[in-house]
Amino acid sequence: MRYFSRHRTLCCAMSAVFLFLILLVPADASDLAQAPRYVALTFDDGPSAKCTQPLLDGLAARGVHCTFFVCGYRVRENPKLVSAIITGGHELGLHGDTHDYMNAMDSKSLQLEIAEPSAYLQETTGVTPHLLRPPGGLYNDAVRAEAQRQQLPIILWEVDPLDWACHKASEVTRRITAKAADGDIILMHDSSASSVSAALRTIDLLQARGFVFVTVSELAAQKGVALCPGQPYSHIS
Ligand SMILES: [Zn+2]
Repeated sequence: MRYFSRHRTLCCAMSAVFLFLILLVPADASDLAQAPRYVALTFDDGPSAKCTQPLLDGLAARGVHCTFFVCGYRVRENPKLVSAIITGGHELGLHGDTHDYMNAMDSKSLQLEIAEPSAYLQETTGVTPHLLRPPGGLYNDAVRAEAQRQQLPIILWEVDPLDWACHKASEVTRRITAKAADGDIILMHDSSASSVSAALRTIDLLQARGFVFVTVSELAAQKGVALCPGQPYSHIS
């Protein structure tokens, strides 16, 4: 009898522990499910006289900061938009001076292609970009070496909706939202009205799913990754 009483007590105690553990598991799983997923939305080829300001307005309304990989010749055409990008709290990256492919350049041209727009931005805005995205994402050993020499990590992308070729905003949004995952860098262009619409709609949909939009540098900091000059990145985790 005493055996059964002890046995029952032991069973009750084990059940209580088991129940406690069960209660703990859903709490942890729930925390995981709610953990924010970070993505960096990036825009190439601007600033654009037609599209960058409406994009900046939409981003400001959503409290979202992005990374703009600007071209030197566009910067010289649109200095006020560069200032608006900076005052909007966004990050500036380099996308070359002429948008010619860097992997086809001789060493002197390559050096100037990166250094000249960087110096111009420093002189005119006080901001020195710390990231490089070669046009087309095309790089070779020489581009990597020059990027390393100029202290620039090479930022590529994990999600490419081909928004420069597809001008149906809903399709561009679908392509991004179907693929985006924590740590992804997303490639877009502030060059068309459809890209602007697609970007803002994408932000609304992904924010509703718990995604947080940050700049590339913020994404690296969030993940505890020190970006190395000359090293290519398409996803940071
Ligand atoms: Zn480009």
